Amino acid sequence: MAQKNRDAGPAARQILDMNAFDAAAGMGAASPSLKRRIANVGAAAVLFYREPIEVVSARGSWMTAADGKRYLDFYNNVPSVGHSHPRVVADVTDQIARLNINTRYLNSVVDRYLDALKAKFPDALSNVVLSCSGSEANDLAVRIAATASGGTGIIVTENAYHGNTSIISDISPSALKRRGLPDHVVTVAAPAHAGQRNSIENAFAAHIERAIAELERRGHKFSAFICDSIFSSDGVYADPPGFLRKAIDTVHKAGGLYIADEVQPGFARTGDAFWGFARHDVMPDVVTMGKPMGNGFPMAGLATRPELLARFCEETGYFSTFGGNPVAAAAGMAVLEVIAEERLQDNALEKGAHIKARLKDLATKDDRIADVRGAGLFLGIELCRPGHAAEPDPELASGAINGLKDRGVMIGAAGRFGNTLKVRPPLSLSEEEADIFVDRLADTLSGIPAS
Ligand code: PMP
Repeated sequence: MAQKNRDAGPAARQILDMNAFDAAAGMGAASPSLKRRIANVGAAAVLFYREPIEVVSARGSWMTAADGKRYLDFYNNVPSVGHSHPRVVADVTDQIARLNINTRYLNSVVDRYLDALKAKFPDALSNVVLSCSGSEANDLAVRIAATASGGTGIIVTENAYHGNTSIISDISPSALKRRGLPDHVVTVAAPAHAGQRNSIENAFAAHIERAIAELERRGHKFSAFICDSIFSSDGVYADPPGFLRKAIDTVHKAGGLYIADEVQPGFARTGDAFWGFARHDVMPDVVTMGKPMGNGFPMAGLATRPELLARFCEETGYFSTFGGNPVAAAAGMAVLEVIAEERLQDNALEKGAHIKARLKDLATKDDRIADVRGAGLFLGIELCRPGHAAEPDPELASGAINGLKDRGVMIGAAGRFGNTLKVRPPLSLSEEEADIFVDRLADTLSGIPAS
């Protein structure tokens, strides 16, 4: 929970705790469905909202609740070609009725997809490994880096989230509660949004250099720098394109690998490019991906150079029973085709620019909007105390999230203090839907008195 005492400033928060239902605060007038969920899942429940929503169906940009209320989905970046896209539904249904088996057999549906996915990467990253979750993909990436570098030292951003396996929880500061990071993990501050391109580029590279030195001081050989290419859990930092270049040079000069985590920004969301790293014109050693890859069908994976994968496979056997099966391949192929046929990357750029311009206009009238930033349909709206851009206001963000919920819009928060609203609608968003969001946000903020 955000700290109440404003003078002391807000407390840092874990990404999963932001705007979550808090069972410890008491069940109050909980619905039977809510009581049933908590009874089944216990402390591992991660429900959204103080009063969670029971959803029953979704289509395009809209989700429908059990009580019939419709919500414009500006939160979920998994159904990124639109909820229940008919093409994905048809291809998955057709394939599951035909064949679903592991990848120890040749199958043209799988190989056609691997070819199409590979074509989306720089030529050097010519091997792809498919798995079922972003966590698994990152876990394998970190292990590939360890065999390649002969070290275990990892650098991450200070509010990063990369997944839930043992190895990956250890490099996800945003998932850790009471326990701290292990000794072999050093954090760097997320790139700041203010300043000129050169200063961000240089400052970020300098942070990386210091982190490498710190790992050496602690006696850990540097293995890899991993970052979400749009720094989503850190608060969404996209600009200026290219600011990662110097940092990645520094990583490579020190003998480390650069792992680009594209689980959030990948698959055309940023509008400028298919991958977030491509906006920065940098060359990763490993790229990991997930979330939107199957538009809701659980699939993930990584792309890397053959020699890095070969080195890892010499030491450890690797196989995933469900990863990359023909149904996943059918879902993934449908997603790639829909993105191309419906020109969703262009739509992300266009609708993202429209929303950004309208939000920037809103910021000129409401001095609690400290910044509007991001790329394509991945934007961050940073909220602060009135006229004090440097003073984060997570309570206002929370009020906005719940006020938007009342007005039929789903949105979430990010950033160290949870004061940045994350804008991530489906890439198929229409201009009318974009305007509904901005209008309802303006209405919500005007209903919350400045404090
Ligand atoms: N990387 C990033 C940047 C993520 O946001 C997430 C999930 N929120 C993951 C990795 C982990 O993916 P998954 O939940 O599919 O394991």
